[in-house]
Amino acid sequence: MIKFSRIVDSLPESTPFVGPETQQRQRQTQFVARLGANENVFGPSPEVLKEVEKATSDIWMYADPENFDLKEAIATHHGLNIENIVVGEGIDGLLGYLCRLFVEPGVNVVTSKGAYPTFNYHVLGFGGELKVVPYKNDFEDIEGLVCEAKRCEGSIIYLANPDNPMGTFHSGSVIEDMVSNLPAGTLLCLDEAYSEFAIKGDLPKIDPNNTQVVRFRTFSKAYGLAGARVGYAIGPSKIIKAFDKIRNHFGVNIIAQRAAKVALEDQKYLLSVTNSVAHAKREIEKIVKNCGLEVIPSATNFVAVDCGRGRDFAFKVLDELIKQDIFVRMPSVEPLNRCIRISVGKQKELTLLRNILPEVVKRCSN
Ligand SMILES: *Cc1c(COP(=O)(O)O)cnc(C)c1O
Repeated sequence: MIKFSRIVDSLPESTPFVGPETQQRQRQTQFVARLGANENVFGPSPEVLKEVEKATSDIWMYADPENFDLKEAIATHHGLNIENIVVGEGIDGLLGYLCRLFVEPGVNVVTSKGAYPTFNYHVLGFGGELKVVPYKNDFEDIEGLVCEAKRCEGSIIYLANPDNPMGTFHSGSVIEDMVSNLPAGTLLCLDEAYSEFAIKGDLPKIDPNNTQVVRFRTFSKAYGLAGARVGYAIGPSKIIKAFDKIRNHFGVNIIAQRAAKVALEDQKYLLSVTNSVAHAKREIEKIVKNCGLEVIPSATNFVAVDCGRGRDFAFKVLDELIKQDIFVRMPSVEPLNRCIRISVGKQKELTLLRNILPEVVKRCSN
């Protein structure tokens, strides 16, 4: 048989993580609450759903490969130039493109130990070497990341802010300081998948033409379009232009392009979602505290629940919840894996959690 490339040969068989659908097939039962993937249970704006319906009749067409209308809407929304924006198949897709632009064998890339695994997956896929920095008190360690990038001459630092899986958030001034302290040869890959849930004035102000930063945003979380696969990156035109060399020509489908544009235009709905999410997080906190567990303050649409007794106990709680058909996830490494991660749900899911969690915790404690 023809040999796989050396990079592919070196890769593990697995994808970044196992989907809830796989788990449902394995367990031969459906989840009753889907609280593990940080999806937006409130869904997109009704205006978006109308647009999706309209767009379906044009499904026979190739969409605009340049995503022009959507890029223009994004530029207007942020007060940026269209040259500073690239649209792609969600942040996940764009992270892959970023790695393709900068990562090859011999290139070091810095991230936090236990941070978003899909980024790592792409780095390894292009033959890069991951250098990991531990979290500090459940926050990604900004100073540690910059230090490590200096030490190993890292090409990229990956930082999710707000963070996944812990939900913690560094305020704008901290990130602005980080940007001004980056080593000359390092690019900051700033994943802001949850930015809409943070307080707007707290997001960092970064010159879009700064050649050391690319920021990533998505329609999957606050805008409720995870299944559509659409996101964007903001960065200097030189880097943004390079994405055009390598991106899938028709990567973003016609429904996603149109839905995302309408989603962006309905900021009133977005506000109602972020308010509902804030309310639900307070509910989850009450439920969790009632069971004698603690939450980690979250700037996202999920809550990391500190189960307080190490990995085995957290895993038991997670496993029991899954046995009750509640889909949740947990961080993969020490010391984050003393936590489980619960995404925001609607009343129905919160009620389930309120009824089930106390029993589960009790059972796991014995
Ligand atoms: C959910 C998530 C993503 C995925 O975003 P898509 O646009 O759906 O690909 C990226 N980064 C982080 C940190 C996430 O939690």
